[in-house]
Amino acid sequence: FRLNNNDLLTLKNLGSGNSGSVSKILHIPTQKTMAKKVIPIDSEAKIQTQIIRELRILHECRSPYIIEFYGAFINNNNTIVICMEYCNCGSLDKIVQLCPDGQFPLAILKKLAFSILSGLTYLYTTHKIIHRDIKPSNVLMTHKGEFKLCDFGVSRELNNSLAMADTFVGTSTYMSPERIQGLTYGVKSDVWSMGLMLIELASGKPVWSEDDGNPNTKSAGPEGILDLLQRIVNETPPSLTGKINPITKLNYDDNLCSFINSCLIKDDNARKSPWDLLGDPQGFLQGVSEGLYDKDVKVWAKGIRKLSKDK
Ligand code: ATP
Ligand code: MG
Repeated sequence: FRLNNNDLLTLKNLGSGNSGSVSKILHIPTQKTMAKKVIPIDSEAKIQTQIIRELRILHECRSPYIIEFYGAFINNNNTIVICMEYCNCGSLDKIVQLCPDGQFPLAILKKLAFSILSGLTYLYTTHKIIHRDIKPSNVLMTHKGEFKLCDFGVSRELNNSLAMADTFVGTSTYMSPERIQGLTYGVKSDVWSMGLMLIELASGKPVWSEDDGNPNTKSAGPEGILDLLQRIVNETPPSLTGKINPITKLNYDDNLCSFINSCLIKDDNARKSPWDLLGDPQGFLQGVSEGLYDKDVKVWAKGIRKLSKDK
């Protein structure tokens, strides 16, 4: 079916980021609930049409680990509207705020890492797509405990248009050292971003933030960010070793630590690819593909769904 604005009823606002804002909507003709992302764009009509054309590849992305795409159109000559599958537990940046101590349980981290790597492997092997923006707000969860990727950079023209509007759009602390340096980067760059994200979700603290002894990190704006990016390139990579909780004195799981640390090898030649990490039968992900943790994750997702509804 063809989507157009008259058929869409806005139900609620879900949040906004650098590129645009997202709302929960009802597609009236099909009575389907969707998520709608609106991206303001002031490039010329030819470019806008090109963006819509490039986004069409999303119709072919079919995987349980990727958000389903319903369509995109230009509205009033100045916004690109993208309609996609709505995920009722929201993104991980919101979910982590509902967790005790801000920490994801181990079983959840296993299923999550497995799902991200499966999504990345699918995108790359089937469509030659690199995600380019792995971070907690771009991984969504359903009430069934499924994790899905969204917001991957398929449209070169869209990326260009966004980059022109603001140089720092797309610049984030989840970016790999090779990418920050402007070197050629590939799918292993997404593995780095996932590693950082997993440290954050396991420990309950963002990796590059306060308490790191550097006052510049806290200052918003270009200087703070540039300084931080320089540190990502120059310092030893973040790693997971400490205690999981100062009260329970529990250590982080050994397999979790070595898994995360292998994602955060600064030299991308030495870093593993998504399919290498999935292919290790003895490691951190053992049992995930056989469904060993599915029940735990389902129960957990139900709890999260309830917490987010109560809020
Ligand atoms: P950035 O612009 O840097 O990607 P972001 O990911 O936080 O930042 P958006 O992509 O605009 O910003 O998303 C805004 C919020 O909308 C997200 O934080 C997420 O919680 C929510 N969201 C996005 N897509 C969906 C979806 N398909 N289903 C449910 N919630 C969604
Ligand atoms: Mg996003």
